[in-house]
Amino acid sequence: MSHYRLIRLIFLLFFSGIVSNASANSIDSLLETIQTSKNHLSDLELANLYIKIGSQLHDDEKYSEALVYRQKAWELLPQDHESVEKYKLIADMASAQRWLNNFQEALELYTEFISSPAEYTEQSEKANALSQMSAIYKNLGDYELAYDYCLKAIGLFEAMRDTSGLATSHYELGSLFYYQDNFQQALEQYRIAEKLFNQVEGSRGVYSCAAAIGTTYESLGDLEKSLEYNKRSLLLAENMNYRTGIAYSLTNIGTNYMHRGDFERARNFLRRSITLKKEANDRWGQIGTFRHMADLELRASDPEQSLIYLDSAFILAEGIGSKTRMISLLELYADIHRDLGNFEKALDYTYTYVQLRDSVLNETTLREMGQRQKRFEIQKREKEILLLKRENDLLESKKQIDKLYNAIFFATAVFLLIMLIMVINRFRTQKHTNELLEDKNKEINQKNEELQQVNELVTATNALLGEKNIQIEQQNKRLEDSNEDLRNFASVASHDLKEPLRMINAYTKILNKRYQHLFDENANEFMGYIVDAVSRMEGLLNGLLDYSRVSIGKDAQKAIIQTRDIIDLVKGNLKFSILKNEAEIKVDYDVLPPIRANQTQMVQLFQNLMSNAIKFRGERKPVITVNCCRRNQEYLFTIQDNGIGISDENREKIFEMFRRLHTKEEYEGTGIGLATCKKIVERHGGRIWVESEAGQGSTFFFTLPVVKELENAPSA
Ligand code: ADP
Repeated sequence: MSHYRLIRLIFLLFFSGIVSNASANSIDSLLETIQTSKNHLSDLELANLYIKIGSQLHDDEKYSEALVYRQKAWELLPQDHESVEKYKLIADMASAQRWLNNFQEALELYTEFISSPAEYTEQSEKANALSQMSAIYKNLGDYELAYDYCLKAIGLFEAMRDTSGLATSHYELGSLFYYQDNFQQALEQYRIAEKLFNQVEGSRGVYSCAAAIGTTYESLGDLEKSLEYNKRSLLLAENMNYRTGIAYSLTNIGTNYMHRGDFERARNFLRRSITLKKEANDRWGQIGTFRHMADLELRASDPEQSLIYLDSAFILAEGIGSKTRMISLLELYADIHRDLGNFEKALDYTYTYVQLRDSVLNETTLREMGQRQKRFEIQKREKEILLLKRENDLLESKKQIDKLYNAIFFATAVFLLIMLIMVINRFRTQKHTNELLEDKNKEINQKNEELQQVNELVTATNALLGEKNIQIEQQNKRLEDSNEDLRNFASVASHDLKEPLRMINAYTKILNKRYQHLFDENANEFMGYIVDAVSRMEGLLNGLLDYSRVSIGKDAQKAIIQTRDIIDLVKGNLKFSILKNEAEIKVDYDVLPPIRANQTQMVQLFQNLMSNAIKFRGERKPVITVNCCRRNQEYLFTIQDNGIGISDENREKIFEMFRRLHTKEEYEGTGIGLATCKKIVERHGGRIWVESEAGQGSTFFFTLPVVKELENAPSA
């Protein structure tokens, strides 16, 4: 090689190394160097130039082009020879594949990388690879493996005191919890990660955490906080000129507006996001955004357009082989077809959805067996790290204890001196007090005799009271027995009446089917009345049965349960009514406490109140707010709506059995729901009432006792 070319090459290599912000210029000059010196360069030198180009392209988020250059470099490296460069290149290729969502390829490369001999790779790089593998398994829906790899990474990062790596791993752990709907724990992990990332200058992690916290708040139903974090994340991404981040934040803001019912704005943000993701060839990201667009059009009552978006998403999900994404899309397909009245198709999609979901679950169970051994090793290593830390802490505390001993010795000497002075003083005063006390004693003896006489009187009165009490108890028992009879009667009657009703129902249907051609207009009308009456009677009997179950099951099993789980269950049960009425349910999950109660009855209680809040809606879209605060020894729960409200004179009546304020044509119902609620609350030692202004909305209040044994325990 001529001297001139050698100097030029060294200059270019050096220059491209110190300019960290990749620019087209430096890629161009590297390419030019290759072009001009190709014949004089060794394979290794050429490979190094390709590697540099690959890194610049990767920093520019051009992952597929980066991969091309890295593969070129790979072909030039001697395959039989282990080297630092070789393993670094494997990790780089894995990273590019991961960004391109080629998960299987990325996993293979990372697996090769982490099993490389120790002398060729840094511990920190291996920890990074473990963290990436966890993220990939999470995306593939393999939570067991994802969790294992994440813990391994955290163990390594902690041992190395690597803040940035630790932050990334906590972030991953957060998303793992998030994917499993464990939003509170997800929020905790994201906050830990955010704190750690803040210590690392110029990290994109700060952006990722803001975005993730925004999304988590949305899942918790707190749209205000969610929007605040989403906007913050967009600003961060724009400041860093981080295009992938901008695209994801746009999607998040879009869905936030969708949940608020501002469809026009939502559409705008989602479209901007899709454009950016298409430019970056981010298939994984596109699936998410297309799914939200489908959801949006479904809410905006355009199921046809919704299906088009859903198809786009499904093709992409199949392409990258993500079962989790496919499952969530199949569920939406079923919902849309049901809305369109294509029940056959809806059933088909539900069937495929269930099958795929079961297959994912089965795979997980099988893999779990193999994972036990690995998990055991991780726990062992975690214990070792913990032991090391403890030893360190022990040494520290020993030094502290020495200092403390000296201080205590000095303090004890001073204390003893003061005590001595006090004892001498005390002795003097004691003598004088003793004389005074003797006089007092005599006085007290006299008073005691008087008291004895009063006591005898009280004992006689108590005996009388005891007799009265026995009489009252007997009366109570008689009352209890007759109540029990009544409850049993209600239960048996409603249960047994269901059977003849079923017969009426069945034969009416047969009559209608076989002899309809003989019916005139009047007969058809009468038939309609029968069907309507049967359905109302069925509602009444079910209500009665529920009511008597609460009464009979007064000793029903109670356990400590989380009210937030109850709310989630109820929201799931009311999903279709919520969607149909476009109701917004606002829940402050942070204030919902654990309670001691019967789970079934609590679901019944919340579900009756929340479904009433949706049912008795006015012209406006229903907004229902669930809240709770503590008042002394009880929790006060509130369920507030913006519906038609209840006039003053009816506020107590509505809790009576069969009491309704409307005809069945206005609002359907049986008038049993609130009576059941009252019974449940009272069985749990609480009270229930309502405050309302007609036309403005109602707030139902009820109390439940605080769980004493949780008082001193850390909050759950
Ligand atoms: P149902 O809903 O079956 O009629 P309930 O016992 O649940 O029976 O309620 C009794 C009556 O109380 C209802 O018919 C309705 O008139 C009134 N009511 C209950 N909840 C509300 C509410 N959230 N807003 C306005 N009225 C309500």
